[in-house]
Amino acid sequence: MWSFETDPEYQELLDWADEFVRAEIEPLDLVWPHQQFTPLTAARRAVVDPLKEQVGQRGLWATHLGPDLGGQGYGQLKLALLNEILGRSPWAPIVFGCQAPDTGNAEIIAHFGTPEQKERYLRPLLEGELFSSYSMTEPQGGADPTQFTTRAVRDGDHWVINGWKYFSSNAATASFLIVMVVTNPDVSPYQGMSMFLLPTDTPGVRIVRNVGLYGEPDGEGSHALIHYDDVRVPDTALLGGEGQAFAIAQTRLGGGRIHHAMRTIGLAQRALDMMCERALSRHTAGSLLADKQTVQAYVADSYAQLLQFRLMVLYTAWRIDRVNDYKVVRKDIAAVKVVMPTVLHDIAWRAMQVHGALGVTNEMPFLGMVTGAAVMGLADGPTEVHRTTVAKQVLRDYSATDDVWPSEWLPRKRDEARHRFAEYLDLEVGNQ
Ligand SMILES: Cc1cc2nc3c(=O)[nH]c(=O)nc-3n(C[C@H](O)[C@H](O)[C@H](O)COP(=O)(O)OP(=O)(O)OC[C@H]3O[C@@H](n4cnc5c(N)ncnc54)[C@H](O)[C@@H]3O)c2cc1C
Repeated sequence: MWSFETDPEYQELLDWADEFVRAEIEPLDLVWPHQQFTPLTAARRAVVDPLKEQVGQRGLWATHLGPDLGGQGYGQLKLALLNEILGRSPWAPIVFGCQAPDTGNAEIIAHFGTPEQKERYLRPLLEGELFSSYSMTEPQGGADPTQFTTRAVRDGDHWVINGWKYFSSNAATASFLIVMVVTNPDVSPYQGMSMFLLPTDTPGVRIVRNVGLYGEPDGEGSHALIHYDDVRVPDTALLGGEGQAFAIAQTRLGGGRIHHAMRTIGLAQRALDMMCERALSRHTAGSLLADKQTVQAYVADSYAQLLQFRLMVLYTAWRIDRVNDYKVVRKDIAAVKVVMPTVLHDIAWRAMQVHGALGVTNEMPFLGMVTGAAVMGLADGPTEVHRTTVAKQVLRDYSATDDVWPSEWLPRKRDEARHRFAEYLDLEVGNQ
């Protein structure tokens, strides 16, 4: 059965969320920009906590995990419909308790954590009491985890971690880190790496620098370069089994990638909305911008590109719900990840162009969106790597032909068809 409708009850919640984000949360982006991941001051708490409460009352708080994993979610498809609303605003995911990277971190603790780890880390994370950081990339290379060298060495019932990690988002404000390290250099990295959960204030965790994205002031970024300096953690800090890091990373990154895509729909829609308003409002060279053929092409191409992307994301979310296993849907998640930066870039760029000089100023959000598109092409793995994944998965369903001519070679197929229908073809010739 195919259906492209949302059930009326959930649609009501979505309509409420849409209005709530625009009216109550978007103003937070203007008064407290880049502050989403810093602990709430008393003043901010006075504003943000009542908003969170309203979200909770509607049953929309922390819906990224289903009841089987300790959350109150409704599955990925419904999360997609909610996330595309939240994608409009950096503060919105925080107010709804489903912000990256905490969502992915919660998911792997829910899947692989011990009861003690869930109590200590997952519960407060789901309650929005603290932030977390995922510490995997290293300065010498992120796209290829087989190059990682940060090492944990066993010492009795403890492990001692040494090495560098880079781009650990929000480490500066996170209460705990999930770090991926080599535990056995003598086997393949796929079996020789493990993950540890540790409080950020563990002695030896040294944040050397907080790297900022373009446009952020020096030293005020949120992506940490960390040196793990003889960091001692107990055996109980191991997340999942020893050597399980790759399997865990796949669980984490599968969810993370599709959630970014859901939010990207909302951001791109916002750019398209602005493009259309401007096209209908600006008069130049004898007509509205909306009457210029090139601007019409911008609008039409953006609409079509966004519709394609949205359907692709919703379909992939629906498939995840069906099979409940990111690995099975890996091809489609990777395909979504490949097209995501281009969709956001193209629509934001056209919207910016239609706004003329105003579009490139810091009085409009377009350049932030364009930078966001570039970030989408790197965070959770570069586009090129995901493209390779898609290609490999697609090719897996095909096999080579031994023949020198392709199996769709028309002369042979024509001969076969003629042979099959020879009797009738002869008749036709006879009747002419
Ligand atoms: C905003 C942001 C937040 C991030 N947050 C986190 C985080 O919280 N935790 C964390 O651990 N990491 C995080 N990262 C790091 C991210 O996962 C890495 O940047 C990414 O995996 C790429 O690694 P790299 O930057 O070292 O690039 P490299 O591995 O050096 O790759 C550089 C370029 O080489 C090309 N390339 C690489 N591999 C291939 C290939 N196989 N085939 C073809 N071309 C290839 C691509 O063009 C790629 O962009 C974040 C990154 C960004 C931008």
